[in-house]
Amino acid sequence: MRHIDPNELRKDFPILDRTVHGNPLIYFDNAASSQKPRQVVEAMVDYYYNHHANVHRGAHTLSVEATELYEQARKKVARFLNAPTERSVVFTRNTTEAMNLVVHSWGREHLRSGDEIIVSVAEHHANLVPWHLQAESLGITIKTVGLTDQYRLDLDGLEQAITDRTRLISIWHMNNVLGAINPIRKIADLAHAAGALLLVDGAQAAPHVKVDVQALDVDFYTLSGHKMCGPTGAGALWARADVLAGMPPFLGGGEMIGKVYLDHSTYADIPFRFEAGTPNIAEVIGLGAAVDYLEAIGLEAIFEHDQQLTRYALEKLKPLDGIMLYGPEGDDRGGIIAFNIDGIHPHDVASVLDEAGIAVRAGQHCAQPLMRSLNVPATARASFYLYNTFEEIDRFVDVLVRTRDYFAAHV
Ligand code: PLP
Repeated sequence: MRHIDPNELRKDFPILDRTVHGNPLIYFDNAASSQKPRQVVEAMVDYYYNHHANVHRGAHTLSVEATELYEQARKKVARFLNAPTERSVVFTRNTTEAMNLVVHSWGREHLRSGDEIIVSVAEHHANLVPWHLQAESLGITIKTVGLTDQYRLDLDGLEQAITDRTRLISIWHMNNVLGAINPIRKIADLAHAAGALLLVDGAQAAPHVKVDVQALDVDFYTLSGHKMCGPTGAGALWARADVLAGMPPFLGGGEMIGKVYLDHSTYADIPFRFEAGTPNIAEVIGLGAAVDYLEAIGLEAIFEHDQQLTRYALEKLKPLDGIMLYGPEGDDRGGIIAFNIDGIHPHDVASVLDEAGIAVRAGQHCAQPLMRSLNVPATARASFYLYNTFEEIDRFVDVLVRTRDYFAAHV
């Protein structure tokens, strides 16, 4: 396996050369959205400068070229996930839209009153609110599984929650607050043994972990391009082809039809049935370029780098008094560290860090039920990626310690 040289990779990311409040930017907000390499931006510029036209519609050269670039991106995403066929890769705007697509289309087709779906207390709102929007009209019950005291999914609790009414388990792959990585293959086996399907929220895992939808034996997998070096506005839903083929359309309009009459329509085959209207062509092409970029580095090398940074940061943070950390021990976690400084609101922590040029997220991370279960109003969160360095972590910890000491002395 190749090892990452972040200083070499940083040359691909012009934004990392800028300063914030007079300090070199340290970008530790990758779980919210990663930065973009030149290769991705240039792929989009090349499309706009040289190939732009609408896709799937024209016989003219530009439309054929645009369609080819767009469909190549579908093949790249399929390859990235080791999907058996690109026919079951549906482009969406992001993970949120992909989750909504499954809930609306698969859920409305397959769920009946009295059925149960299982989520955890630590889901992103994108895996809760779509269910809330449908639960009442479908008459389904949303069951929730908690965490162990080690901030991991309670697998015993999950097993106990499964009944003969369970139709779907819908769960995160890497948690966006705790960094914990779920044993997806094990969860898939539990779901399938009960005759249920598994929907995986891959928003955080796909950028950092090699995902193989066949080895994981999942039924649905979702991702957001903007968290994996791609542009905003392009994400994907992968679903098992036979499952996707049995799902009705989510949105209606052009592109997704077979025949349209005044009073009814027939619908296109997969995946086009789920891509109504003109898609985000440039963004999808950018997502394809992001996949090429990540694969050229290697997902194994990226994950190794994330883990090294995380171990290094945790070794420095754990001994510090007054700094609380929320996340599991061990290697099976990604480069996400949620923390608080005793007595200081995380928004204030984030503001002080910003003054020093360090970008972290502070708030509830679209995970209000998790915040309640951790019994904290909010946390700060540092999250790493392939261009982050050990020196940046040194500076981050240094500013945190000074912040803690300053507030202790003055407030
Ligand atoms: N799921 C998880 C675990 C996330 O971390 C996020 C975004 O932070 C989402 C879903 C939603 O992603 P998007 O806003 O790109 O739809």
